[in-house]
Amino acid sequence: MKKITVAIDGFSSCGKSTMAKSLAKNIGYTYVDSGAMYRAVALYCIQHNMFDATGTLDINTLNREINNIDISFKLNPLSGIADTYLNNKIVEAEIRTMAVSEKVSVVSAIPFVRERLVALQQEMGRQKGIVMDGRDIGTIVFPDAEMKIFVTAKPEIRAQRRFDELISKGDNNTKFEEVLSNLTQRDHMDMTRKDGPLKQADDAILLDNSFITVDEQMKWLVDKFNEIVV
Ligand code: C5P
Repeated sequence: MKKITVAIDGFSSCGKSTMAKSLAKNIGYTYVDSGAMYRAVALYCIQHNMFDATGTLDINTLNREINNIDISFKLNPLSGIADTYLNNKIVEAEIRTMAVSEKVSVVSAIPFVRERLVALQQEMGRQKGIVMDGRDIGTIVFPDAEMKIFVTAKPEIRAQRRFDELISKGDNNTKFEEVLSNLTQRDHMDMTRKDGPLKQADDAILLDNSFITVDEQMKWLVDKFNEIVV
């Protein structure tokens, strides 16, 4: 069967990663979480004190250091899923914290950061057989992807899902309102940036998953995939 490229874009916390991961497993494709790559760059900036007390990023220092930032994925044999590595150190848990979520959209709006990560993502998908999720996958990274999905859900529902995820990881300090405000702010910044903004590709299929179950969603996705590959 011919291999295709699957691009899944959409708003923050609408379950894109979970959906993309399960779809990739189901169809035997490689999954790449492009958001993890932007999060890893944001983590690097935090670790190297590139944000001042007002939250302003020292872009010149980041520009000088961008080539020292190595991001890779390695398969975790226990979970069967690839973990994110920053300069050969596993950062899977650290990149999902609120501290990183609060800074990532500033970092991801910088053109030289996008240029570097988009090139890496395109290289990862060169042989097809890939499911990648993010914000600009169907528009910039793989404009020729054969299957493009754009996911959305009501902000309160998305915030609740993210809040539950943080609680399940032992974060009892973050309030629901903070999560909601972080994701609406990130969506706004992601949609309004000049370079690679979050937007639905003209040929993407819209999926609002506010009121459908994970199983219903997976069936819908696999059906769409099968329609496309035949
Ligand atoms: O998908 P996730 O929420 O982990 O992405 C974190 C952030 O990374 C987004 O809010 C966005 O600023 C950035 N991002 C991006 N382009 C992508 C994927 C993520 O700008 N393709």
